[in-house]
Amino acid sequence: MRPDFTPSANVALLKESATLAVAGRARALKAAGRAILDLGSGEPDFDTPAHICAAAGEAIAAGATRYTATEGILPLREAIAAETNARATGPDVVTPSDVVVSTGSKQSLFNACFCLFGPGDEVLVPTPAWTSYYEIIALARATPVPVFGDPDDGLKVTVAQLAAAATPRTRGIMLNSPCNPTGAVYSREQLTAIVELAHEHGWWVISDEIYRHLTYEGEVPAPSLLEVATSRDRLVVIDGVAKAFAMTGWRIGWAIAPHALATSMKALQSHTTSNAATPSQYAALAALVRQEESDAARAVMLAAFRERRDAALDVLAGVDGLTVVPPVGAFYLFANVADAAPPESEDAGTFFARRLLDDHGVAVVPGSAFLAPDWVRVSYAAPLADVVTGAQRLRALYESVRTAARVG
Ligand code: PLP
Repeated sequence: MRPDFTPSANVALLKESATLAVAGRARALKAAGRAILDLGSGEPDFDTPAHICAAAGEAIAAGATRYTATEGILPLREAIAAETNARATGPDVVTPSDVVVSTGSKQSLFNACFCLFGPGDEVLVPTPAWTSYYEIIALARATPVPVFGDPDDGLKVTVAQLAAAATPRTRGIMLNSPCNPTGAVYSREQLTAIVELAHEHGWWVISDEIYRHLTYEGEVPAPSLLEVATSRDRLVVIDGVAKAFAMTGWRIGWAIAPHALATSMKALQSHTTSNAATPSQYAALAALVRQEESDAARAVMLAAFRERRDAALDVLAGVDGLTVVPPVGAFYLFANVADAAPPESEDAGTFFARRLLDDHGVAVVPGSAFLAPDWVRVSYAAPLADVVTGAQRLRALYESVRTAARVG
């Protein structure tokens, strides 16, 4: 007899990451011999720069193979604090003890939410947003409250929309700029207004700035909350090396938080995963301190992302009815396919993404993963030729389904 499994109340409502699920389906089709263009992926398609890999190898050879302090090695936290202080404008200096290094910024986000929020609390999530925010907040037994962004401004939320969604139970806001899935970037003025609103109400702001360095217009890197806030009170900044240094597999992220919260996150992590992998911490240290080499490697990646973004936008420009959020940062295009679904279909994004994968061999992520069911997310972290062909097939499918939907 197979043993029974009834999920505990902790995970009863938990859904698998929809973005990882798409990657899994694309992999399965590839394994079955299909040629799949993978525009679903959320990771740079570049190798980690050589100087970073070499630094990890040297650290291992020098014996960096044991546990470290739970919160991470001091030189890495010093480098993070120094880099932050060099650009932060507020009066509060970040010290290494305000920094907790974790196994990817996903864990940093989990630590922050788990330490800050609990049953009865509500957290405003500007939406569409990265799928894991909703689940992580729910794992803390708090309630994520989606606040839908402004279609005329890259689906970004305004303070008026946030204020309208707030209740006496609101405890925090989860910000993400540049945004996954839209690529939208909040301006300094917009960030300032949001921080002021949060300070006024005593809300925490968690600012996920993991795509900060991947910006193609305006200020590069994109403005950080630490550059506009007048105090670090109730601010948590989440960052990491995964996206900006092509280091997704090394699993290093961090949180910069007021000291008392950092101490609480460290205690939580000491009972879950302990320190992030030791060689990976030395690799991240090299990424931060060997700045010239890192900047040169990133410039190559940025140029490639920009070229692909522009090429995909060219293909999708002027398609009747197809709205695309102008992507300023990250490596995603967010396209509205509401007009290209037969009325009887499930949500438009899911229908469209399935047809595109099954019939045309292109993997994209349905917008329902980001609570935006009329949309699909197209990643341009893929070779230029794949991005162009994928965008052409998306366009062709959109035009044919839209016409059929209208005729039918
Ligand atoms: N935050 C956002 C907005 C992301 O898109 C991702 C990964 O896709 C992460 C955080 C997690 O990054 P990490 O690999 O550092 O855990």
